[in-house]
Amino acid sequence: RRAKRERTGVVEWTPGLDSTQRVDLRQLTELRSGLRNGHLRLFYQPLHEATSRKMSGVEALVRWQHPQRGLLPPGVFLPDAERSDVILELTDWVLAEALHQAALWKRAGHHVPVSVNLPPAYLAQERAVPTILALLQLEQVPADLLTVEITETAVLTNPDEVAAQLSALRLRGVRVAIDDFGTGYTSLGLLPRLPVDELKIDRSFVVQMHDSPAHATIIDSVIAIARALGMMVVAEGVEDEPTAADLARAGVDLLQGYHLNRPTPPEAVPLVPARPLTAVV
Ligand code: C2E
Ligand code: MG
Ligand code: MG
Ligand code: MG
Repeated sequence: RRAKRERTGVVEWTPGLDSTQRVDLRQLTELRSGLRNGHLRLFYQPLHEATSRKMSGVEALVRWQHPQRGLLPPGVFLPDAERSDVILELTDWVLAEALHQAALWKRAGHHVPVSVNLPPAYLAQERAVPTILALLQLEQVPADLLTVEITETAVLTNPDEVAAQLSALRLRGVRVAIDDFGTGYTSLGLLPRLPVDELKIDRSFVVQMHDSPAHATIIDSVIAIARALGMMVVAEGVEDEPTAADLARAGVDLLQGYHLNRPTPPEAVPLVPARPLTAVV
């Protein structure tokens, strides 16, 4: 790793830096202290059953409440974090916070399954599974209230290792989703061997389904594959009613997108059924 870094002429170094790409070290250092000083927030975006439109759970999405720059979306700070050890500490915090919130909802009488994004580097740690199980135990949250979202990249870097980790989680009841499905390089042949409950069709397919027959066909194929393998299908990035209706008709199980709900702080999550079916535009 070191030699590679020197070859490309990148001279900055930070503990755990895992890429030859340049990172904004000042912002990364600031993120680490922001994390320790309680400046990160989790927003939650509901997922809805495609036909009934009932809320079926939420996805936790991290934000950085920066003292000077305001509320920052993950695109601003996650790519750098993912090239360093900061991502491990950040993910520990995200898991703890999301499960704590699930416990608060549970105690208030609401059944709210929570999905958490797990970066490849996190799953690569031996402590990943025991840490997640310990957090569930600590918060007294049933394992099936947690879904971990992994990307195809995570799977590909080490399919057998990752499959073993995911199997261990699933054995305890944690659900597993593949995020941004269709944008990575998962060989379809690998899919039947992966312990997965859910495929999340990437927004790029969903936004183009009305303009491009090819994208609509790909969505139909993903649905067929998921059916054959006994997996649920989630469509992300649903921005209008015609798209929602067509996805439901095509057989998508769950919908997520601005049309249904935007990510919000936990207190603003609508714990009653969202936009009714009749609200057709
Ligand atoms: P993702 O996991 O695929 O999350 C969905 C992203 O799409 C979120 O962006 C969400 O706000 C956005 N989105 C949802 N519905 C719509 C829609 O209808 N239209 C459009 N244009 N966008 C929509 P966000 O929150 O900015 O997060 C971006 C990505 O950052 C996430 O993509 C995920 O890969 C990563 N991320 C977010 N939170 C975390 C986290 O806590 N840990 C890790 N490791 N990654 C995270
Ligand atoms: Mg996700
Ligand atoms: Mg996604
Ligand atoms: Mg996505």
